[in-house]
Amino acid sequence: MKDHVFLSEKKPYYKANLHCHTTVSDGIFSPEEMKAAYREAGYSIVAFTDHNRYVWQKQLQDENFLPLAAYEVDINDFPKSPDGWPTLSTYHINLYDTDPTRNSQEKAKSKLPPRRYGDFAAINGYLQEMAELGFLSCYNHPYWSLQNYEDYKGLRGLFAMEIYNHGCELDGLYGFHPQAYDEMLRTGQRLFCLATDDNHNRFPLESAGSDSFGGFIQLQAERLDYSSTIDALKKGNFYWSMGPEIRDFSLKDGKLFVKTSPVEKIYVISQGRDCHQKLAERGRTITEAEFSLTGKEGWFRLQCRDSRGLSCGTNAYFLDSL
Ligand SMILES: [Zn+2]
Ligand SMILES: [Zn+2]
Repeated sequence: MKDHVFLSEKKPYYKANLHCHTTVSDGIFSPEEMKAAYREAGYSIVAFTDHNRYVWQKQLQDENFLPLAAYEVDINDFPKSPDGWPTLSTYHINLYDTDPTRNSQEKAKSKLPPRRYGDFAAINGYLQEMAELGFLSCYNHPYWSLQNYEDYKGLRGLFAMEIYNHGCELDGLYGFHPQAYDEMLRTGQRLFCLATDDNHNRFPLESAGSDSFGGFIQLQAERLDYSSTIDALKKGNFYWSMGPEIRDFSLKDGKLFVKTSPVEKIYVISQGRDCHQKLAERGRTITEAEFSLTGKEGWFRLQCRDSRGLSCGTNAYFLDSL
């Protein structure tokens, strides 16, 4: 176990929503309106993930804002759902373009996955093809998708999966699914996790029903440009959140050191049951913690909860690669 700085309070964080719908598909706001709203709310990065249509909103890029080229594809289990939409299981996968200047003609075709629900060879073949074209793929909202372990355990080649989807949480309280992330990690896969909005904005931005600004990542990129952002995403230099902040997270001499905004609980979740925790006394909050690792955690990830019930956390880190 070598010393490691996972997240540093000495470097800037860029706030990002990596799941956003606009008038390009079934969202209410135009890409321009989305940029204005997210800038106003302190975001620097938005991935435009309209359904089944790849778009690079290049015209929105400036020194304070980076639009990521992306789209969201789906594979529906139509034959098994005679009742239609209410009981339809479906895979939704976001594809993030790592370099929109490359293969642009091919990407503009918005290649869709084969309609082969549960056929892992076909789906993974598609993900492999998209990776070769330059996309990172993220498995979205399994809870909302009415999917279980059997549906997702065979997926391979994912860059990340959602751990929290704000739109789904508002829709039916099925947006938060840390168990699915842990289960995926326990299949032996190494992937990151994201909190996103998946906003469609059918309700006004200031209203209780607004699906904007509830799930995001804070990314530590060297600079706010396309290649630095992708580089930081690939390295996992970010944490996910519904609101609370992780300010600093490091490993030194076998001990984890954490600094957060005021929270009630700080947990280190691991591959097995040897978890660690620090809890605030009732009615109080804490902003830091340290934990001695046993060296048998396999992997570990941080997860915290504040007094509003909102959570934040890190990606999983694997002891054998530290
Ligand atoms: Zn979706
Ligand atoms: Zn979506």
